[in-house]
Amino acid sequence: MLEIKNLHARVADEGTEILKGVDLTVKDGEVAAIMGPNGSGKSTLSYILAGRDDYEVTEGDILYNGESILEMDPAERAASGVFLAFQYPLEIPGVATMTFLKTAMNAQRKARGEAELMTPDFMRRVKAAAAELKIDAEMLKRPLNVGFSGGEKKRAEILQMALLEPKLCVMDETDSGLDIDALKIVADGVNALRSETRSFLVITHYQRLLDYIVPDTVHVLYKGRIIKSGDKDLALQLENEGYGQIIGEAA
Ligand code: ADP
Ligand code: MG
Ligand code: MG
Repeated sequence: MLEIKNLHARVADEGTEILKGVDLTVKDGEVAAIMGPNGSGKSTLSYILAGRDDYEVTEGDILYNGESILEMDPAERAASGVFLAFQYPLEIPGVATMTFLKTAMNAQRKARGEAELMTPDFMRRVKAAAAELKIDAEMLKRPLNVGFSGGEKKRAEILQMALLEPKLCVMDETDSGLDIDALKIVADGVNALRSETRSFLVITHYQRLLDYIVPDTVHVLYKGRIIKSGDKDLALQLENEGYGQIIGEAA
């Protein structure tokens, strides 16, 4: 699914390297957790996967299903199935959540050369996905994220993820600042969407989320490099010992 090879990257108009040789492979159906202290480059990695143009790859490659995506713009990546969930979802006053979802789905279909989704078909899909994720359809009439509680924002985002049927979901600290109920919404959503053909990159500072989304692999990113990889027990080890021990071993 995803093969990151010796990835070096920096902010486009600055000299400092943020990623300094990241190597990471994520298989089809794998849930990989990326953990690491603040400032390690976790968000930078997710922005680069999504294709944000304010970051620049200076060396290495990102292969998605065997092909380099470095030359693809964010819309092309999204169309090919890469989904980035944000740490802080945007509020869009005046745009009903429903309208936003339909626009997002049709933009993706257009980029794929598929026909526009008509309203009845769209409604059927939204209702089915909302029911599966236990989301109240009333919420979808309100402007996207405006006045939403933390839990509602997460529901809206998980619903968006479900409808866009991504192959690779990158979730950048989606858990930060969430109470336990909202955390469970995210985890239930991810677990419902797990499949043999869909992979997740779950980026988190804390182990807590991984009690609910049990990862197949855990990787520690520190100062722009993966310094340790393991299975779910590595997250527990980090919880107990903190990052200091592993950083010391790597040094
Ligand atoms: P994390 O998500 O692990 O906390 P980030 O990717 O946000 O780490 O940041 C990694 C490092 O890169 C930090 O030192 C941060 O200050 C720097 N950095 C990230 N984005 C920018 C930017 N747009 N301009 C300048 N420095 C940046
Ligand atoms: Mg940070
Ligand atoms: Mg971050």
